[in-house]
Amino acid sequence: MKINIAQFLNGNEKVIPFDYNLDFSDVDISFQHPFTEPVKVNGQLINRAGYAYLQAKLTGDGHFTCDRCGECYDSPVDLDIDTALAYDLEDHDSESIFELDSEIADLDEIFYELLILSFGSKFLCREDCKGICPVCGVNLNITQCDCAKSEVNPRLAALDTLL
Ligand SMILES: [Zn+2]
Ligand SMILES: [Zn+2]
Repeated sequence: MKINIAQFLNGNEKVIPFDYNLDFSDVDISFQHPFTEPVKVNGQLINRAGYAYLQAKLTGDGHFTCDRCGECYDSPVDLDIDTALAYDLEDHDSESIFELDSEIADLDEIFYELLILSFGSKFLCREDCKGICPVCGVNLNITQCDCAKSEVNPRLAALDTLL
């Protein structure tokens, strides 16, 4: 969905509501494609005191692979967006304003960027995921193995001989 911000700000409509589905199945985040189903976008563009404000909510389901244990897990998308849009900014460092390349605001592109930004650099099935054992490869969230112990053993054995 593309909107000419200059025309919108000069026009009579003060609010442009929108409610549609976005296809993010191509979205690649750290080599993962989490959004196999469409992401819902619901919100409005508001002309407030000569500024265009984008208020939106993104909801959907994300399917991820844990970086630590390799298991698949689901995590919902629930992103609130509330930002001013501007294409003629003088202060390029303003964090509260989303800067556009031109007076044409491509909302899909903005949602895409903000969604990507909302993710950290790591995907974990849970905060304290124990990962997989580097020696035998079992998922340490599910089972325990004796590898850690046997790795320590040679050193302990050496200590034993010293003593
Ligand atoms: Zn995990
Ligand atoms: Zn092991």
